[in-house]
Amino acid sequence: EGHVVFDNVSFSYDPRQTALNGISFSIPKGATVALVGPSGGGKSTILRLLFRFYDPDSGHIYIDDQDIKKVRQESLRHNIGVVPQDTVLFNDTVLYNIGYGNLNAPEDAIFKAAKAAQIHDKILQFPDGYETRVGERGLRLSGGEKQRVAIARTILKDPPIILLDEATSALDTGTERQIQQALSIMTKDRTTLVIAHRLSTIVNADLILVVKDGRVVESGSHEELIKQG
Ligand code: ADP
Ligand code: ADP
Repeated sequence: EGHVVFDNVSFSYDPRQTALNGISFSIPKGATVALVGPSGGGKSTILRLLFRFYDPDSGHIYIDDQDIKKVRQESLRHNIGVVPQDTVLFNDTVLYNIGYGNLNAPEDAIFKAAKAAQIHDKILQFPDGYETRVGERGLRLSGGEKQRVAIARTILKDPPIILLDEATSALDTGTERQIQQALSIMTKDRTTLVIAHRLSTIVNADLILVVKDGRVVESGSHEELIKQG
C-alpha cells in the first residue's frame, strides 16, 4: 500500500488562475518524497487533492492503481495521515492529543505505545520531565511542540501514507532536519512520506519534486538534481 500516481492532473480554485497545470509523477510505495519550490507553486494543492479536499478538474490520481475517486472517502482518509502547518490541538493533555483518533485507549496505554514507538526520544524530545509534560494541556505548548505532537499522533496512527505540509516550519533548521530524518527512518519502507516544504532542507528524500507555477519543473534524487545544477 502507498503507491501514488498523479496522471496529468490539472486544478484551479479560480477559473482565472491555474493552481496545477497537467502534473504527472509517480511515488513508489514506502518512498520519502520532498515537494519543494516557491510559495504558491502548488505543493499544498497536490496534498489537498490527494486527500480529496478537492477533485482534479482533469486527469487522475491513483493510490495502489485505484482511482481515488472510486475509493470510499472513509477508507481514503483512514489510509492517509495529514500533518498540517497549523495544528489545532484539543484542549486536553498531550497524551490525549497523541492518542486521539487512533488509540481508543486510556492514557497509560497511549504512554506505553508512544514510548514503544520511540516517539518520546525521536519526535517529542521534551527536554525534561517527560511524564509531567505529556500530562500537560496541549494548548500550553509552543508552536514547535504542537507540531511535534501532531507528527507523533500521525506516526502512532501508522497509516500507509503520511502527508506533511510545512509541518516542521516552527522548528529551527537543525531540529527540523533531525525530525525529518527520524520520521524517514521510523517509517522506512512501510510508509509513503510526502513532505511539502518551501525550502529544500528536506533530508533523506528518495525523490525530490520541484513544483513551480503548477508544474513539476525538476525531479530526481538529491544527487541527480545537484548534477543537473
Ligand atoms: P504552495 O503550497 O506551493 O505554496 P499552493 O498549492 O498553496 O502553493 O498554491 C497554488 C496556487 O493556488 C497559488 O496561486 C495560490 O494562490 C492558489 N491557492 C491556494 N489555495 C487557494 C485557495 N484556498 N483558494 C484560492 N486559491 C488558492
Ligand atoms: P501555503 O502555506 O500552503 O503556501 P498560503 O500561506 O499561501 O498557504 O495560504 C494560507 C491559506 O490561504 C491556505 O488555507 C490557502 O488555501 C489560502 N489561500 C492561498 N492562496 C489563496 C488565494 N489566492 N485565495 C484564497 N485563499 C488562498
